[in-house]
Amino acid sequence: MPSYTAPADLLSGRVVLVTGAGDGIGRAASLAYARAGAQVILLGRRTGKLEGVYDEIENAGGPTPAIYPLDLEGANADHYAELARRVEQEMGRLDGILHNAAELGVLCPLELYPPHIWAQAMMVNLNAPFLLTQACLPLLKKSPDAALIFTGDDVGRHGKAYWGAYGIGKAAIENMAQILADELENTPVRVNVINPGPTRTSMRVKAYPGLNPLEVPTADQIMPLYLYLMGPDSRELRGQSLNARDWMRP
Ligand code: NDP
Repeated sequence: MPSYTAPADLLSGRVVLVTGAGDGIGRAASLAYARAGAQVILLGRRTGKLEGVYDEIENAGGPTPAIYPLDLEGANADHYAELARRVEQEMGRLDGILHNAAELGVLCPLELYPPHIWAQAMMVNLNAPFLLTQACLPLLKKSPDAALIFTGDDVGRHGKAYWGAYGIGKAAIENMAQILADELENTPVRVNVINPGPTRTSMRVKAYPGLNPLEVPTADQIMPLYLYLMGPDSRELRGQSLNARDWMRP
């Protein structure tokens, strides 16, 4: 099993954007990236939650983060263009994006799947990562070593009954990451996918209400792969889809 311990200054001097930074895996990744020296742009829809993560980073002595409230369900290309413009103006650079935010939608047969929930889930899980990536690529390409990380799921690798828009969106994310990795082969931007595996978050509880969440790893335990793929130690790795549980801290 691979193991990875990030050096304390892994992301020093880098600017990294995390979507869904206010809770769950996104919150843990934001804290881990800040601990490794990154200035983190905390993007999410609830300012209160983002402020909580901001305070945790500041209290731990990390580089002052930035908060970017945005509801990915309603955001369009103009919103992402404005985001990229402000990141360049205010931070001067962008060295990585963790596309982490996602909506579960509902679990039910496709025959009964409510079209409006389909549209919401696709906006957050698929359209948002596409539009955000497209808007930020010119800035990422200016970085000497940029990382784009997408988030997959087991149900996106093999279609499974009742996972509807969520499963289909995750399958499409894997494909989008492969296309981007291929297209960006000769640029400083490397693209990879993390499949977190079962993780103790509110999404897990919502998806598996009958299972004990204490039996699965915490978001903090799966951070080694998140750090590895965001930092320069994975410079040679492109177009991979890796399981965070294989790199887990005990
Ligand atoms: P959580 O539901 O705990 O966190 C998801 C985050 O995304 C929250 O901060 C949430 O904001 C944010 N978000 C959701 N919708 C929007 C929106 N419209 N606009 C902006 N932000 C939004 O999920 P996890 O931490 O468990 O999941 C993180 C990633 O890992 C997801 O991509 C998920 O698919 C994937 N994953 C998780 C697994 C698990 O077992 N937990 C297993 C496999 C994959 P808010 O706090 O406001 O709701």
